[in-house]
Amino acid sequence: MERLEDPSRRRFFRGRVKTKQELRLPWVINEAVFTSGCTQCQDCINSCESNIIVKDEDGFPKIDFSLGECTFCNKCIDICEQPLFSGAFLEDNATEASTKDKTVNNKAKAWPVTLEISDKCLAKNNIYCQSCRDECETSVIKFNYLNSSIPQPSLNDLDCTQCGACIKSCPQDAIAFNFDQTTV
Ligand code: SF4
Ligand code: SF4
Ligand code: SF4
Repeated sequence: MERLEDPSRRRFFRGRVKTKQELRLPWVINEAVFTSGCTQCQDCINSCESNIIVKDEDGFPKIDFSLGECTFCNKCIDICEQPLFSGAFLEDNATEASTKDKTVNNKAKAWPVTLEISDKCLAKNNIYCQSCRDECETSVIKFNYLNSSIPQPSLNDLDCTQCGACIKSCPQDAIAFNFDQTTV
């Protein structure tokens, strides 16, 4: 696969301003490290057993949870030759940035995001649906009647593994990971 000499530089000179933050590979250090270090070789895209890694508009890999869930197989991390990842995944690729993050372990969040269910949710509009609960293996999403005639969803984000399985299951596209803070 042809590699760009410097994809991040090419993007800079195009003058494009990104307004949307993308979900990169799990446990990437941050967006700046990623876009300056990723060579766009596409090895991660080809290695993903769930086929959820796609190219963004600039050619960089991003996760698309509308295509499926992350199994945390770590194949994308293992195959990447660049020092883009935090914690245990960087033992063979130590950099100044990664050394700083050595305490990060597999229990750390894979992405700096929080799962949220928007008002597009059918149950929130008094139409019965519990598709997301059925998809969540860790029972993070629960339904209770509260003051409604239709059970309403709630989630305990602390127990969410960030697998993303519930996102594809939602017929209303109402579930999304929203960034906790600006990382671009
Ligand atoms: S394997 Fe690494 S360098 Fe190659 S496209 Fe994926 S993130 Fe970029
Ligand atoms: S950890 Fe595995 S399933 Fe998740 S994005 Fe990487 S290759 Fe795909
Ligand atoms: S992303 Fe979180 S809430 Fe959704 S299915 Fe996975 S563990 Fe459950």
